[in-house]
Amino acid sequence: MTCALVYHEDFNKYDLGIDHPLIGDKPRNTLRFFKEKNLLSQFTVLTPQKATEKDLLRVHDASYVAHVKALSQTGGWLSSDTPAPKGIFDIACLATGGSICAGDALFNGYACALNPLAGFHHASRGHSSGFCFFNDIAVTIEYLREKHHLKRIMIIDLDVHHGNGTQDIYYDDTTVVNLSFHQDGRTLYPGTGAAETIGRDDTAGYTVNLPLPPGTGGASYLKAFDAIVPPITKQFDPELIIYQSGVDTHHADPLADLNLTYQTYYHLATRVMTLSKETCHKLLVLFGGGYNSIHAIHSYYNIACGLLGTQTYLQEPDIPDTSPEEVAGAVDHVLSILRKYWTL
Ligand SMILES: [Zn+2]
Repeated sequence: MTCALVYHEDFNKYDLGIDHPLIGDKPRNTLRFFKEKNLLSQFTVLTPQKATEKDLLRVHDASYVAHVKALSQTGGWLSSDTPAPKGIFDIACLATGGSICAGDALFNGYACALNPLAGFHHASRGHSSGFCFFNDIAVTIEYLREKHHLKRIMIIDLDVHHGNGTQDIYYDDTTVVNLSFHQDGRTLYPGTGAAETIGRDDTAGYTVNLPLPPGTGGASYLKAFDAIVPPITKQFDPELIIYQSGVDTHHADPLADLNLTYQTYYHLATRVMTLSKETCHKLLVLFGGGYNSIHAIHSYYNIACGLLGTQTYLQEPDIPDTSPEEVAGAVDHVLSILRKYWTL
């Protein structure tokens, strides 16, 4: 099976400043590491174009797009945690265009396509924070929906932060299941994503949130995945799966407190790929967050290994869960809520 990977040297200009956790050279270093490990040759590398304003406007308010554009001319702040350096509009459009390009590849013969600068899930229609400018997940969905008339899209968002922007955009939409595992919002930005947040009235059950306690380790995480993700995905039977594979769940990540290890990412990617093979054969992988550079790159590498099904991958000593009972309790709670909508 051939996977596509989108890359542009200008991806590395998505740099929010020397003291900021979003380090600009991560895409370049990720690809360099893939090359060193002889993995890059297993991907077809595609060069993306910038997303157009028409693409952005399928999701974002015109006033918001104009605001980001104006900020990009002067430099400034999009929100208190998100500086807007000069020229960021074009770079954010390029990152978004990367996800569109990867999405297109899935309709041109690739079963899997990956964008290393992607998964900007904190961007809503008319506002944003959390280092995000445009919601490339939603922009890609709407682009592909217009072109291919998709009716069932599954988002599996495993970044450590809740994907509040994506949730806002699709909260009333039964054509998209937005499933997010994240560190409990009572202990981490952006504070949303409670188990009880499931959609409203007719859309209940199409938003799925699993808030995990700090200290959750790989074994419990995989168990939670197996209990929730495969049954919902198979019952929904998506035409496209989008995997926001943020690795800020790693134990060394400076921004959060989950304890996943390298091997967890390999096993998660393997599972998501299996689900894609069992349903739509169209898997869009958006690398998402990860703020401790070397560990993030190793974790992304293991995701790529899992997608390709390589026999070898990086390993490190397992970190036991701080409280497996607490994680099991959180999973049981979510299952009890969702059983009204899905067979679990
Ligand atoms: Zn994150």
